[in-house]
Amino acid sequence: MIRFFQHISQQRSGNRLTILTYHRVAPEGQITYLPALSTEAFSRQLGWIKRYFQVMTLAEAGRRADEGSLPANAAVITVDDGYDDCFHYIFPLLQQHGLTASFFITTAGLQDGQLWEEKIAEAIIDAPQSCQQLSWQDGDHPMGNFAERLQLTKKLIAELKYLPLQEREQRLLRLQQLTGAGQSGRQFLQPEQMRQMAQAGMEFGAHSVHHPILLLEDDQLAYQEVLQSKQQLEALLGQEVVSFAYPNGQYGRDFDDHHIAMVKQAGFRYAVSTNPGSNNDLTKQALCLHRVSPWPTSESRFMLSLLRSTQPQAGAPDGY
Ligand SMILES: [Zn+2]
Repeated sequence: MIRFFQHISQQRSGNRLTILTYHRVAPEGQITYLPALSTEAFSRQLGWIKRYFQVMTLAEAGRRADEGSLPANAAVITVDDGYDDCFHYIFPLLQQHGLTASFFITTAGLQDGQLWEEKIAEAIIDAPQSCQQLSWQDGDHPMGNFAERLQLTKKLIAELKYLPLQEREQRLLRLQQLTGAGQSGRQFLQPEQMRQMAQAGMEFGAHSVHHPILLLEDDQLAYQEVLQSKQQLEALLGQEVVSFAYPNGQYGRDFDDHHIAMVKQAGFRYAVSTNPGSNNDLTKQALCLHRVSPWPTSESRFMLSLLRSTQPQAGAPDGY
């Protein structure tokens, strides 16, 4: 089985690149508000990935494509958003396996300590016990126990996700006032942690400042979100940031050609979407790369899900 997959992955030619997406990772049993892969499952997957692929950062893959030396089974591991599980769990496991990854940071979290989704979770789940229900614009919602609070959190995240930034902020503020939940400690990467990771060969890319749906914002704000996240990271790391991940990331729904042009104008060389599929030509697709998100239960299923999801897909452009 191993040889079969190695054979297939090595047969690929040209500037082919497989990019895998990860978000949160947490030890088994730790309660997380947002879905997280267990550290055990993540470590197991890293073992599988390195058996079949040559893993490198996106910046390195780009460099090697330019030089004509991108290996046929090249892959990039990406992690979005920038929560501190990147430092506490993901980074040590990558190092254990001798791998690197590209981390995409939503820079507002560096200052605020968390992003809007976690703020919602905190406002609901950590609300005082006396807070038994939320009187929201669409009616009353029970929040007397953990299950009800978790359900309400999910509902509100879905509701606020597709609002323009300003409206999302207003509703979040209203929510915090209604439940009276306090502000928690930090859950985000710290600059010193990022510098340590960068020194160990990890790449940092930008993921906007506030994680807006770019298509919902006017051009000026959208461009600021793209450009400022690059500038903030470059100041923090003291090095050029060449990669970007579109927030939410579905081409046509969350961003379009217009934003691809903005990302280019801001000086990025590579940008990843969340559209599934492989990249047949890294150079040609550089500013709208596809990613795959395998959630396997065994090694052969993992490889099958990767192979299936790396078949060319319709829906996203192929030539940027
Ligand atoms: Zn994100």
